[in-house]
Amino acid sequence: MRCQTCDYELWNLIPAACPECGTGWSFEQFRFRAGAAQFLCPHCEHAYGGNDAAGLPTPRHFTCVGCQQEIMLSQMRALPAPGSNRDDAMEDRHPWMQRARIGRWRAFRQTTKQSLLYPAKLGSSLPANLTITAPLLYSVICNTTALAGCVLVPVTVMTIIELATSGSTAVPMTSYVPLLGGALGLALLQLLILTWCGCAHLLLRMTGETRHGWRHTTSALLFCSAPMLFAAIPCCGVYVAALSTAWMLVVAICALAGAQKVSAYRAALAVLVPSLGLLAIVGAFFILALTTGVTLSGGTPASTLPSAQGAAAADVSLVPSDAPNSDSQLLPAP
Ligand SMILES: [Zn+2]
Ligand SMILES: [Zn+2]
Repeated sequence: MRCQTCDYELWNLIPAACPECGTGWSFEQFRFRAGAAQFLCPHCEHAYGGNDAAGLPTPRHFTCVGCQQEIMLSQMRALPAPGSNRDDAMEDRHPWMQRARIGRWRAFRQTTKQSLLYPAKLGSSLPANLTITAPLLYSVICNTTALAGCVLVPVTVMTIIELATSGSTAVPMTSYVPLLGGALGLALLQLLILTWCGCAHLLLRMTGETRHGWRHTTSALLFCSAPMLFAAIPCCGVYVAALSTAWMLVVAICALAGAQKVSAYRAALAVLVPSLGLLAIVGAFFILALTTGVTLSGGTPASTLPSAQGAAAADVSLVPSDAPNSDSQLLPAP
């Protein structure tokens, strides 16, 4: 049991401010394995085992059988029960939330593995009190990596080839256009994902009770960004984008069911309905951009056009390059 801010060991302490960083904490922030922790009366040290889903004693306020005094959970100290140790006593902890303690790279690897293969576990291990900053950071890292593979690598390769064939040393201005498009695409993608999270929580609330608030829904879904990493594979990322999206939807359903303790049907409804709506909007946008780009570029290579006009033409012809990039090149000219 460690401080969620600074990782300070909190066993054998009465809940208050963390001695190291001053962050307030309570036993309700943690999940103990069944029977793995014991809670001591502040007066007589009589030990009580945890008996609810979070491994805490119920009721929280009762008369001590040892000293007959009224005691509350918030006055007690916790120790690992005999036979369990400090590390085994806690339920699975969310690896991304432990990154200060276990290291960022290890936390990223563990979170990604769970996101791909064990999303329900990842969803159910979200701490009770959370902000969306940490899950948002994970999602931005995954999506940036994906877009970098889709845009940055091909653009760099194309720029190097262009420089080598033209004999020039100046990087053409048109090389920056897809990079700008990639940055805008990333911001748009993140905005779409947050909209998706909001719609999913709304649908979840419309279909019944949820264990936690919107932050848990949003966090559970943001941590499902790992399948997007496959889109970072240079040159073939766009071909696996559909598979990544399908994979992401499946893990999102499992993670949401785990995080909010709802049925798979409700989680599937909450995840899929807004996804289909957003996919339809994005698909319509790309088809529009694709047809506009093909019409406007009209066979003139963007890099041979004068700078301002060339940038505009390159922009529209490269709009589909963010996601169905290579598909545009595969389509026959109208
Ligand atoms: Zn602390
Ligand atoms: Zn007592």
